[in-house]
Amino acid sequence: MEYRIPFNKPFLVGRELDSIAQAVALGNLAGDGRFTQSCCRLLEQRLGINRVLLTPSCTAALEMAALLCDLEPGDEVILPSFTFVSTASAFVRAGARPVFVDIRADTLNLDEKLIEAAVNERTKVIVPVHYAGVACEMDRIREIARAHRLLVVEDAAQAVNSFYRGKALGSLGDVGCYSFHETKNFISGEGGALCVNRPDLVERAEILRDKGTNRQKFFRGQVDKYTWVDVGSAYVPSELVGAFLFGQLEMMQAISDRRRQIYEYYRQSLQPLADEGLVRLPTVPEGCTQNFHLFYLLTRDAKTRDGLLAHLNSRGIGAVFHYVPLHSSPMGRKLGCDVRPLPVTDAVSACLIRLPFYYTITADEQADVVREVTAYLRA
Ligand SMILES: *Cc1c(COP(=O)(O)O)cnc(C)c1O
Repeated sequence: MEYRIPFNKPFLVGRELDSIAQAVALGNLAGDGRFTQSCCRLLEQRLGINRVLLTPSCTAALEMAALLCDLEPGDEVILPSFTFVSTASAFVRAGARPVFVDIRADTLNLDEKLIEAAVNERTKVIVPVHYAGVACEMDRIREIARAHRLLVVEDAAQAVNSFYRGKALGSLGDVGCYSFHETKNFISGEGGALCVNRPDLVERAEILRDKGTNRQKFFRGQVDKYTWVDVGSAYVPSELVGAFLFGQLEMMQAISDRRRQIYEYYRQSLQPLADEGLVRLPTVPEGCTQNFHLFYLLTRDAKTRDGLLAHLNSRGIGAVFHYVPLHSSPMGRKLGCDVRPLPVTDAVSACLIRLPFYYTITADEQADVVREVTAYLRA
């Protein structure tokens, strides 16, 4: 269905199309050309990341992360159920069992107080998902990981250019995963990146990314021919993707500034409804600098959420709900992941609604959304 004010709109902000033309002229459209490398250096420098490798998607980055964890059948991975499919599927593909832990009612992130109760001798990895680009309680999560010798893989798909106590999200785990899907802050249609924060993982990450070959070493002149050395896959994106993405990343500040305005407008205009107790607005704890990835409301109950959603949609506004919790999905049930009660996850997913949010949304469009939300909730 086409909405007058859609939930998301892909956008051009700078030199994306020029860069693509330039990439064609340079004569290298396969992976790791000049633009792909420029994207990686820009992200490393701006965000303080040890090593960034572009991937075709965040899903691919998560799959690489799972391979780097060297999981064995029966190993367990702790993650929220309130997340996108790929957070879990990447680890299931690698043979692990997802163990879902409930989320905090304020940030909707993995509840750090519940993690240790889910740890046992099979646990290998914790996967914090930074929902809406707001950081999980990473100090505590890393402390738990250290105490139990677990790896930390950050699903920072929504969190490019977000920070926790001054450090970029994606740079805090053993590895971190970014998305440049067209619904995220910085886009290349489909796209992602793996942040390899531990220098000792870089070489294997490069090999897994390039079909399990040591081609990168060959390019650097470190071996005299390249060959098959591990089981990887095709995790190198086309240079066309890198060229488009570079046009966006060059404009990171402008995109972020605009998103802040959009967010602040919603926040200020909807605050009265929150003060009246009609909705709950997002919480950003101290120490978290967010990237204004999305704006959500939590209604008092599921019936109100469904009613509000239907009302907005009927007025041509593309508001949407978010995750169907993975523990209650057909695959989650089949894998036997629905054993632990997850009351906050269940409640939140039934009451959450996301408002239209994109770089080119106009003040009139936002005013229209606020008017319709207010009209419905006050009726
Ligand atoms: C968008 C998203 C993904 C998947 O990203 P793709 O680039 O589309 O593969 C994974 N996890 C979370 C939390 C996301 O929001």
